[in-house]
Amino acid sequence: MKFCSHCGSDAVTFSIPEGDDRPRHLCGGCGAIHYINPRVIVGTLPYLGDRVLLCKRAIEPRLGLWTLPAGFMENGETSEQGALRESWEEARANVRVDDLYTVYDIPHINQVYLIYRGELTDTNYGAGPESLEVDLFTEEAIPWDEIAFPIMRETLEHYFRDRRTASYPLHRGIIHRKF
Ligand SMILES: [Zn+2]
Repeated sequence: MKFCSHCGSDAVTFSIPEGDDRPRHLCGGCGAIHYINPRVIVGTLPYLGDRVLLCKRAIEPRLGLWTLPAGFMENGETSEQGALRESWEEARANVRVDDLYTVYDIPHINQVYLIYRGELTDTNYGAGPESLEVDLFTEEAIPWDEIAFPIMRETLEHYFRDRRTASYPLHRGIIHRKF
C-alpha cells in the first residue's frame, strides 16, 4: 500500500502497531491501521440422484477447467446465502441446502472455503456469465483430470465416498502449497 485509503497520505509504513504482534500498513498521516485478512469463498455441491453439477470456467484462473459453483462472499450476507447466490450466478442452479459439507483453509493464499451440500430443486440450470458450460456428472463421468482446484477435487472425492454409506459428516481440510 502506497497511499492511505482514508486520508490519501503517502506516509504509509509497514510496521508493527503498538500492542500488536505482526506488521500492518500504518498511516503516519491519520493514524489508520489497514488490516488485510483472509477472504471467504462460499459455494455448493449441487446433486441430483447420483449426479453432481459442475461448471466449466469461462474466466481465469483455470479457464476451461471444471469446478463446483463458488465465489467470494459479499458483505451483508450469510455464508449460506452467498453459496446460493454464487450457484445461481455461475450455474443458474436452484439448490435446497442440506448442510455445510466441507471447510478448507488455504493459508498460503489467505483463503477459507465453505462448501454446502444440497439437492437441485429443478433442472433449469445453465451457464451464467462466468461459465462456458454447466452439466450433471456421475462419479464415473466426472472429468477428474480437469478439475480446476484441489479443494473442489477433494470435496467431490468426499462426496462420492460418503454416498456409499449415505452419511455426510462435515469434512475439514488444509490445502498446502505444492512445491
Ligand atoms: Zn491516513
